[in-house]
Amino acid sequence: MSDLQTRLIHHPYTPPEGFAAPQPGVYKASTVIFANVAQMRARDWQQKKGYTYGLHGTPTTFTLEERLCELEGGKQCVLSPSGLSAIAIVNLAFLKTGDEVLLPNNAYGPNKVLAENELKAWGINCQFYDSMNPADLAARIGTRTRLVWLEAAGSVTMEFPDLPALAAICRAHKVTSALDNTWGAGIAFAPFEAGVDISAHALTKYPSGGGDVLMGSVITRDEALHLKVKAAHMRLGYGVGANDVEAVLRSLPSIELRYRAHDVVARALATWLKARDEIVQVLHPALEGSPGHANWQALCGRSEKEGEGAQHQGAAAGLFSVVFDDKYSTASVDRFCDALKLFKLGYSWGGPLSLVVPYDIASMRDASVAAWPYKGVLVRFSIGFESEAALRADLEQALALL
Ligand SMILES: *Cc1c(COP(=O)(O)O)cnc(C)c1O
Repeated sequence: MSDLQTRLIHHPYTPPEGFAAPQPGVYKASTVIFANVAQMRARDWQQKKGYTYGLHGTPTTFTLEERLCELEGGKQCVLSPSGLSAIAIVNLAFLKTGDEVLLPNNAYGPNKVLAENELKAWGINCQFYDSMNPADLAARIGTRTRLVWLEAAGSVTMEFPDLPALAAICRAHKVTSALDNTWGAGIAFAPFEAGVDISAHALTKYPSGGGDVLMGSVITRDEALHLKVKAAHMRLGYGVGANDVEAVLRSLPSIELRYRAHDVVARALATWLKARDEIVQVLHPALEGSPGHANWQALCGRSEKEGEGAQHQGAAAGLFSVVFDDKYSTASVDRFCDALKLFKLGYSWGGPLSLVVPYDIASMRDASVAAWPYKGVLVRFSIGFESEAALRADLEQALALL
């Protein structure tokens, strides 16, 4: 296996004296007792030099934060109760009335909805940009722009942008860039090497791996940025449950194995679907002909001599979408989804169960940025751990009903 997996297994942890178990202890607390008033006054919640209150951190949350930094190549981390709340923390840390935030037109839907509702109501402007056209981002950055969201691959439509180029544009304009790194998960590429300032991650997906935890993280490499994030996190009172942290700590050492297993089957099924007459386009960044494939190859592809493990052929998550021929109506594609037996209808991804969701992309896009080129219905698949043969047979029987 890879060095990353080794580091996640051998990551330092000091157990209580006389109890030399490698699994980190699970500590629960609201109150933390101080020895005296001087100690109470001296401890600073921002600095992680001691414990002040359960909401500000426990040995258990600090351990997960450090391991997530190892995963993503960052230096500081805060945990939040969901991936969406991690996004909200970043927005509230860096935006105030009069500012502007830019989001890719294919951003995670709830990120756009938050910007168009709460942020707009607070006098924060939002604009969407074409993530596949770095010049479009550069042209939209103005004097009020304080934050740019990045996503690779884009949500649902899976276009893979030239992430280093987008991050470099933000840097050149001295605008903070925040990547939603849920798809890459710290496995497909190193977010900070790509030049982003902040990585927000829905731990709900691959780090949890079980479909049973909601959690998010915000990782930075710069102390000043981290302190802004930490202050917003602290003032908003976003805490995480110790048992949820425990579940993520338990799953983390196997994340690379799981990511690779999802990837292998997703690529095989996407390739198989590409050859089907019912499908006009498969959207999977590791497949040739998918939008941004060359960008994926440049960022995530690895030659054989460079690495082992999940990065052997370049890593991609277990997600892909297909666009049906427009001779199939929304109702008939709905029937296809309903007919699937192993693929369940449901949101999210990263767990053992394969999931499917049909989307109406035109309604999710700002058409003034870039028009969606397809007329047919889009369906997104998230591949779990069922066998490839069983999933293919399930797709085949449902396609036969079209
Ligand atoms: C799921 C997801 C989120 C939000 O995570 P939750 O824990 O469900 O709030 C954010 N971004 C992306 C890309 C996601 O897939």
